[in-house]
Amino acid sequence: MRLSSQNLTRFTLPSLNQYPNMTSGLNSLMWFRKGLRVHDNPALEYAAKNSTQVYPLFIIDPHYMKADPTAFSPGSRFAGLTRIRFLLESLVDLDCSLKKIGSRLLVLHGEPHDVLISCLKEWDIKRLCFEYDTDPYYQALDAKVKSHALESGIEIYSPVSHTLFNPAEIIQKNGGTPPMNCLSFSKVAGEPEWLSSSLSTSLSAIPPVGDVGTCEVSEVPTVKQLGYEDIQEEEPPIFKGGESEALRRLRESIKDKEWVAKFEKPNTDPSAFKKPATTMLSPYLKFGCLSSRYFYQCIKDIEKEAKNHTSPPVSLLGQLFWRDFFYTVSYGTPNFDHMRGNKICRQIHWNNDDELLAAWRDARTGFPWIDAIMVQLRKWGWIHHLARHSVACFLTRGDLFIHWEKGRDVFERLLVDSDWSINNGNWLWLSCSSFFYQYHRIYSPLSFGKKYDPNGAYIRHFLPVLKDMPKEYIYEPWTAPLSIQTKAKCIIGKDYPKPIISHEIASKECKRKMAAAYELNKKQNGIVSDEDLHNLRAQVEDQSQVTVSRRLKQKLI
Ligand code: FAD
Repeated sequence: MRLSSQNLTRFTLPSLNQYPNMTSGLNSLMWFRKGLRVHDNPALEYAAKNSTQVYPLFIIDPHYMKADPTAFSPGSRFAGLTRIRFLLESLVDLDCSLKKIGSRLLVLHGEPHDVLISCLKEWDIKRLCFEYDTDPYYQALDAKVKSHALESGIEIYSPVSHTLFNPAEIIQKNGGTPPMNCLSFSKVAGEPEWLSSSLSTSLSAIPPVGDVGTCEVSEVPTVKQLGYEDIQEEEPPIFKGGESEALRRLRESIKDKEWVAKFEKPNTDPSAFKKPATTMLSPYLKFGCLSSRYFYQCIKDIEKEAKNHTSPPVSLLGQLFWRDFFYTVSYGTPNFDHMRGNKICRQIHWNNDDELLAAWRDARTGFPWIDAIMVQLRKWGWIHHLARHSVACFLTRGDLFIHWEKGRDVFERLLVDSDWSINNGNWLWLSCSSFFYQYHRIYSPLSFGKKYDPNGAYIRHFLPVLKDMPKEYIYEPWTAPLSIQTKAKCIIGKDYPKPIISHEIASKECKRKMAAAYELNKKQNGIVSDEDLHNLRAQVEDQSQVTVSRRLKQKLI
């Protein structure tokens, strides 16, 4: 099937008589949070059916969006500017799409719960529709909103449409706990239910917006209006937010059917930057500009026609299973985003070293492969999956032995696709805190990138200071003789940092520390206190006499 905008109308939703309590002649409010799209948006469809007036609302929460000049990169306290800009672009696009079908997006500013409750009253809303959200922030917020709605006799419609499956149903099917690996997840999940009845990807009209009363509705603000300096980028942004762009990119990504059918994630190249090796659709899935279910449906159509195709977990379809897998585990695991109080997370005596953390975050480790990735992250807000593996392993159990929560926070801020479930899940994985336990398998910052890119084109692009370094030294420039460094106009220690650690020593120490932590977790059946970790840290440091960071600061800096 070749995708065109007509294909978007091919599907139909489960018939509306399946919806509860259908009434007519009422005001509905469609509350957008994620799910910033018109296609495959069951909450919006339901709001549009049999309502007299529909109020499509997005609330700008200053807590999330207010500029924070003290943060380590431009943006608010929680999000980098690249993601904020992406969100605003997505809202503009949504407003445009809604206008085409007789409506518009109403933007209000303030604390979401308070704003929403006052809108419900002011607009005499009888039906509130919003996409179900498993993130703890929305779980807490939605519980408060639902209790208000219940007291006020407002009907709530909150379908699961951000993921392929309903995490709660998967957990129930699995006997009350989430499946703990992707294979058992896909066995429990089977085919999504909606696949047989097909999706609705067209909405031709929405009832008009009613009188907004005293609510101070605005247009979608610009970054400047939100208090950000409009930073002039050196290069045009890599992503443009919005559903229209998401669908265009989807079409582009899957037009080569053979590529889709043969997709094997582990064989994709993390150093490809002119034409990245994966779809780069993650920011669109994160904000719901693209429906993961529609994406799944498109891949399925291609697979049906293909003679052979790859399978989960490595296939393109498999990538969407990974996404749902992390959503399900995170939904069923209290304190998923922390080491403490998280029963699936091994307790490890991570180091606390702000200097090393900042060197990693700011691309000053002296390892070109690591630093180039961190520059790409900052500039693009996106890096390839195996590049994420490399830098996450380096920060945690591979070299620096720094807490995965610290790395998670940096990713959470800088990624445009920053996603609570997926980000935390992958940091747990990469730090060998959960899911994956082979801590002796370390991504070498010296040789891993070289396998894909022996000439170092990726490094030269993101670290132009090294652009003239001969390929023999591009991954370890400190080993280049001074004459070569001079010729390459890059003196190590002056123009580009010396390595902050010796990978050989650090990785050995990390393995020893991981072994000790695993042993303790095993001995104490996972019940490990702060004091136990403190004692373990003292014991391990005693054995090595001096910590990695101290040794290296003495030796190399
Ligand atoms: P493709 O390979 O084209 O895959 C298509 C889609 O499948 C992706 O867009 C994504 O939604 C999903 N997907 C792919 N790989 C994974 C995976 N391993 N786990 C879950 N879903 C996956 N992804 C995020 O979307 N948000 C994050 O915050 C995030 N943080 C990560 C942190 C670390 C430490 C690591 C190792 C990975 C993280 N990932 C995250 C997963 C993965 O790296 C990205 O989803 C992927 O690189 C996005 O690129 P793509 O859209 O081209 O992926």
